[in-house]
Amino acid sequence: MLISGAGIAGLSLALLLRQRGMTPVVVERSPGLRDGGYVLGLADPGPDAAERMGVADALRAARHVPRRLVHVDKDGRRRSPEACADPAPPPPLG
Ligand SMILES: Cc1cc2nc3c(=O)[nH]c(=O)nc-3n(C[C@H](O)[C@H](O)[C@H](O)COP(=O)(O)OP(=O)(O)OC[C@H]3O[C@@H](n4cnc5c(N)ncnc54)[C@H](O)[C@@H]3O)c2cc1C
Repeated sequence: MLISGAGIAGLSLALLLRQRGMTPVVVERSPGLRDGGYVLGLADPGPDAAERMGVADALRAARHVPRRLVHVDKDGRRRSPEACADPAPPPPLG
């Protein structure tokens, strides 16, 4: 089975197929991992899917709870009030 694209959909499908004894091949047109990133929020039904796929513990271990969130313009000037200045303890995943 050939899966085109190593995004969340392609990789999730590949994992689910492997867990069912199949050997999918994932092809990706991008030459490498992106060197930038963005906050990724996991909302319903993401946590349920992560539990069922058996990756929720790994996600919990890798997660980062931001202490500050500041919007800045291209010159670094602040454009919004800070959020998360005194964050509550991280909620459980799901
Ligand atoms: C700035 C930003 C923030 C976001 N934040 C969130 C968030 O917090 N929570 C959330 O749930 N969603 C978020 N999203 C949405 C989320 O990123 C998408 O819904 C999700 O990535 C879609 O996954 P996908 O696997 O379907 O597609 P993609 O992530 O687009 O993956 C498709 C992959 O297929 C590859 N590909 C395409 N065509 C071919 C081809 N012909 N051959 C080989 N490879 C190919 C592409 O290079 C790509 O790697 C965000 C999106 C953006 C832009």
